[in-house]
Amino acid sequence: MDFNRAILSDTPISVAINDLIEAAVAAAPETNVRQYLGASSIGSECLRRIQFDWLVDAEHSFRLRDIFRRGHLFEAISKAHLVAAGFRFAPDRALAFAALDGQLRGHADGIIVAGHELPDGGYPCVWEHKCVNAKNWRAIERDGVEKAFPQYRAQVLLYQKFLGVTDHPAIFTATNADTCERFHVLLPYDAAAAQLWIDRAADVIAATRTGELLPRFTDDRTHWRCRMCGHRERCWSAPKQTATSNGSAQAPADDGIDIPECLRRSPPGQLR
Ligand code: SF4
Repeated sequence: MDFNRAILSDTPISVAINDLIEAAVAAAPETNVRQYLGASSIGSECLRRIQFDWLVDAEHSFRLRDIFRRGHLFEAISKAHLVAAGFRFAPDRALAFAALDGQLRGHADGIIVAGHELPDGGYPCVWEHKCVNAKNWRAIERDGVEKAFPQYRAQVLLYQKFLGVTDHPAIFTATNADTCERFHVLLPYDAAAAQLWIDRAADVIAATRTGELLPRFTDDRTHWRCRMCGHRERCWSAPKQTATSNGSAQAPADDGIDIPECLRRSPPGQLR
């Protein structure tokens, strides 16, 4: 057995090229072009991440950015397969919504307006696609969308509610990134569950308006969610919250982290 065998990903040539790519990616930082609270964020386990995703730029390695791109790529492939199979989609302009004074917005992957007769399905229906690794794909297959990834369920509920596509269950397509297998599940609309997520969005917006930096979901900065989070440095360099005279928590003005003006306290009732 050759114990000196080189691990190819650790060789100088591989490390050097990846370092160059990483530097190039870092030189073209992600920008938060949305400036709104996205439907895809609201189901996050971490309230602070929802605020950051809304208002400041994320910082991801090129590997993570490529994972996001992979999601878009597989979404397009899956949609092309469905179109080829005879399903018809609404035009792109029908997929966007804005709610809560325009602060909460989203853009569905699709609305299927016509197609084959399906068991328990009907049209129009929201279509949502996720491309996940094999482990997460099996988790969804085994436990269902709501249990395995409540944030995906929240996202779909908001699309159903605000796009007014509630009469027929959404079709959720999960693609296994490792094997390209797919399964499709129906997600019926649940008005009460949708309202809970809308209330959560309203609470985040209200807290942000008063300059409240919401709590982290964990005390462990090595948690896998934090390792995947594009706000990790910003988040963990933030000091603990301080209590204000009215009992609420407020991000200090000179805390050394990049909290935008819109996360700071402003007169009550003032909208941004
Ligand atoms: S680093 Fe972790 S605790 Fe901080 S915002 Fe991201 S997910 Fe939340």
